[in-house]
Amino acid sequence: MGRKFYFVAGSQDLYGDRCLADVAEHAKTVVAELNRSGRLPFEVEWHPNLLTTAGIMAFFDAANADDECMGTILWMHTFSPAKNWIFGLQHNRKPILHLHTQFNEAIPFATIDMDFMNENQSAHGDREFGHIMTRMNIPRTVVVGHWKDPEVQGKIASWMRVAIGIVESRKIRVCRIADNMRSVAVTEGDKVEAQIKFGWEVDAWPVDAAFEYVRAVSQGDVKALTDEYYATYRILLEGRDPEEFRRHVEVQAAIELGLERFLMDRNYHAIVTHFGDLGGLKQLPGLAIQRLMAKGYGFGAEGDWKTAAMVRLMKVMTDNSNTSFFEDYTYHLVPGEEGILQAHMLEVCPSVAEGDVSIKVRPLSMGEREDPARLVFTAKSGHAVATSLIDLGPRFRLIINDVVCKQVKEPMPKLPVATAFWTPEPDLKIGAEAWILAGGAHHTSFSYDLTADQMEAWGDAMGIEVVRIDKDTTIRNLKHEMRWNAASYR
Ligand code: MN
Repeated sequence: MGRKFYFVAGSQDLYGDRCLADVAEHAKTVVAELNRSGRLPFEVEWHPNLLTTAGIMAFFDAANADDECMGTILWMHTFSPAKNWIFGLQHNRKPILHLHTQFNEAIPFATIDMDFMNENQSAHGDREFGHIMTRMNIPRTVVVGHWKDPEVQGKIASWMRVAIGIVESRKIRVCRIADNMRSVAVTEGDKVEAQIKFGWEVDAWPVDAAFEYVRAVSQGDVKALTDEYYATYRILLEGRDPEEFRRHVEVQAAIELGLERFLMDRNYHAIVTHFGDLGGLKQLPGLAIQRLMAKGYGFGAEGDWKTAAMVRLMKVMTDNSNTSFFEDYTYHLVPGEEGILQAHMLEVCPSVAEGDVSIKVRPLSMGEREDPARLVFTAKSGHAVATSLIDLGPRFRLIINDVVCKQVKEPMPKLPVATAFWTPEPDLKIGAEAWILAGGAHHTSFSYDLTADQMEAWGDAMGIEVVRIDKDTTIRNLKHEMRWNAASYR
């Protein structure tokens, strides 16, 4: 399916046909140049000027009905009386970017007259348009500046990823294999409210319904996929017998194929597992889940369906790049080097890996199954966001933390799992205190390719509370913000 964005200029019929022809021509030029810029991840499609209530209604009806349309980019080139937009905006279901731009960059001082000013009055018209959307409480993104400005184009590109998250969120279906881990609070939540707010369908299946698919995988298919593993990843036997090692890897190949077929047959895009409820599975799905994440599936461990859906969402927003499930595990508290070692029992997505990805087979202290095969690697350095969606009872809260991923100074040869090491902004002490005060989970959905602004814009569109922890965070302000939010979101 192609993805595209509708672009339209709003106006009215006060200024004559010649002016409207210019408006249409200008909008076409902007669209052509945006598409040529190479900065936008998706195509922009020009639509004829909008002047009337009926025309505006028809435009939004078309956008709503077009599965390829991920959002609309709206620009009031002249003045467009905003009452004309009310009905259309009331029916609109697609994300809105309000592009507050102007065709000419400079005022033509020597020649400017009233005709020119009436034709190029977005400073005026876009204020009228912004007013009605604020009055109607419509979430949207406003981008200000000349349309040729690389920064403006970059913001449009960034918003396109948000828009895809808003539209595609409604299509996410999570398959729960077993229930949440017993007695754990933060992975719980209101699945009905999640469907109302985010569009997520979250269903449970008995583990052995999925295991039947694993058992049905042919030996030929298992061999072919295991051969692919051996060709793709380094094999770290670490003293194990090569044939015994391969038999363990084959178990994960069968699980990958079986689970994937199970999910595809039922149109699921995310999965949760639980180490305490594995039915007939011989190993906790490790390598298998890592491979499914690499293919774009969301994942949450111990039944954590909220994180599974968030990982899927962020993979859709990034075209499945540089995005994973993680868990805060252990601290490095040495002054000047502070950070959190991130890992999980097994399940980290290799899309975040830097350097070699290897297979190890090692015992697992939790669960009563044979030693699982898993992919082991180190995550990249660089800026990223870690997010946690929590259910506070009366409302959801999305916590977004800017983090800086680093390489640890020494190798960790005895740790048989994939890891990342990051320092939360503004620093470990304030960042972790803020995260804990905000109620953030130990599981996160994490991406190098998304920004806190993008995740906040998604949260705004869902109508949920968003708490950001970044270089500007102070504990005092955070406490105030959460107190105000408690009054605002109920
Ligand atoms: Mn966990």
